[in-house]
Amino acid sequence: MRFSTRAIHVGQEADPATGATVPPIYATSTYTQAAPGKHKGFEYSRTHNPTRNNLEAAFAALEGGQAAAAFASGMAATNAILSALLRPGDSVVAYGDMYGGTYRMLERIFRPWGLTARYCESTAPRDIAAMVDESTKLVWIETPTNPMLRLLDIAAVTEQCRAAAKRCGTRPMAHPGGSPMDHALGLLVVVDNTFASPALQRPLEHGADLVMHSTTKYLGGHSDVVGGAVVARDARFLEPIRFFQNAAGGVPGPFDCFLTHRGLKTLAVRMRQHCENAQRVAEWCRGQRAFEQVIYPGLADHPDHALARRQMSGFGGMVTCVLRGGLDAASRFMSATRLFSCAESLGGVESLVNHPAIMTHASIPREVRERRGVVDGLVRLSVGIEDVEDLVEDLAQALRGV
Ligand SMILES: *Cc1c(COP(=O)(O)O)cnc(C)c1O
Repeated sequence: MRFSTRAIHVGQEADPATGATVPPIYATSTYTQAAPGKHKGFEYSRTHNPTRNNLEAAFAALEGGQAAAAFASGMAATNAILSALLRPGDSVVAYGDMYGGTYRMLERIFRPWGLTARYCESTAPRDIAAMVDESTKLVWIETPTNPMLRLLDIAAVTEQCRAAAKRCGTRPMAHPGGSPMDHALGLLVVVDNTFASPALQRPLEHGADLVMHSTTKYLGGHSDVVGGAVVARDARFLEPIRFFQNAAGGVPGPFDCFLTHRGLKTLAVRMRQHCENAQRVAEWCRGQRAFEQVIYPGLADHPDHALARRQMSGFGGMVTCVLRGGLDAASRFMSATRLFSCAESLGGVESLVNHPAIMTHASIPREVRERRGVVDGLVRLSVGIEDVEDLVEDLAQALRGV
């Protein structure tokens, strides 16, 4: 099956009991056993739930992975990856321009616990690989990055970081459930694929080991449910994460799983429209004097435009703009938009506008943030799938007040 077909059919077999075309929501915490230990593979819903299993099958199919685990949020998914795969003394190498919550988790939760995180400020694969040493177990990248929309070359980062790990003799990972992980690599590459979605980019096909998602964004797609996912290239990489999912329990409930699954069925058509609308919005913004800078991977002068053409099948729905006039202009602009709601998050059918310095990236110290280009005049647009002429008119009327 091809991508859009998988999105609609995987994990959605008709219910054998009734023929219901869409499987029912299994709102149950427990399962009746015929005799102690005699059950149908389901004992307790923290461990397994049919609605969640269906969603996990769909996640794996969309990313082209062997297995997936669903979580109650993107951060619960990140926590599971870090907790299940790392031990005190280990280190993570990450690209610096990342989701603020991931940075906060690395710094405020995992650093006191004994993890070292090192941040690379360059997108060049050799600079990222140069930070790998014998303690490095994970390389964590986002592409396109948030909010600067730089791209990282997934295949090159993966290849060069693996070679670096081999040179420094990275120690193998321990399985938290006891049995040692038997894969030969000591280092895994994780890609947070939230901004692109698997409709536009499938990191496992470029050699990455794990994909992490905030399914709250494009996968759910309607701004009505929070969730997360981890998808593994090799089912063995998922074992410790699956162990952690059951042992620590950050699982989504069956109603959330149903909503997310309903959303992802339309991912392919939504992403096509997001890309088309964002391209038009970016080109329009480019012509406005009020913007000092317009960043969109689909613009020919974007520094990673060629890589975007190679690695993605569309340029995405996110557009980042810097207003002349700093915080004051940004704040007036954002209060004046009517269709673009001033809100955190992204990836829904409705357009949103976010101010990273005050909203999503407030936990990053000002000097670090500004070095990465996240200045006070910067606004991030999540371009929805409304009629694009309405969106452009909304931006135009908001600019008149700036
Ligand atoms: C939103 C987001 C997260 C966190 O996910 P939640 O579902 O909000 O917990 C992680 N990474 C990126 C890129 C995000 O946009």
